[in-house]
Amino acid sequence: MDTSETQASYRVMKTHDFNDCLFYRIACDCTDTNHDVEVEVEFDKNGILWVFLTGQLTVADWWNHYGFFGTIWKRITLVLKLLFTGWFEMNGEFLLLDEKHIDSIINFLHEIKDRNAKRKNK
Ligand SMILES: [Zn+2]
Repeated sequence: MDTSETQASYRVMKTHDFNDCLFYRIACDCTDTNHDVEVEVEFDKNGILWVFLTGQLTVADWWNHYGFFGTIWKRITLVLKLLFTGWFEMNGEFLLLDEKHIDSIINFLHEIKDRNAKRKNK
C-alpha cells in the first residue's frame, strides 16, 4: 500500500519533507496544543531509521494524588535527579478519541514504511 501521496490527515500534519527527513505534528485529541507531539523521522544512508519525539511533559497532579506540596516535592526531586544524573523519566498523556485520528496515525506509519522501502530499493 503506497500512502506516500496522502495529503490531508485528521490531526496528523506533515510539516516538512526533505526527502530523507520527514517532520510531523500529531495533535492530542483534547485540543490543547501543548500536548501535541512533534515527530522527526530520519532515513540515514546506512539504512537506519531514526525517530525523534518531542513533546511537552508536565509535572502535574491531575487526580490530586500528591497534593500541592507533594507536587512541588516531585518537581524538586526531578530537577535534582536531572542535575546529578543527567537524565530523568517522565510520562505524558496523549488522547486518541476518534477512529479517524487512529487511522491518520496508521497512515502516517504507512508513509514512513513506504518511504523507507523506496530508499532501500534505490
Ligand atoms: Zn491533550
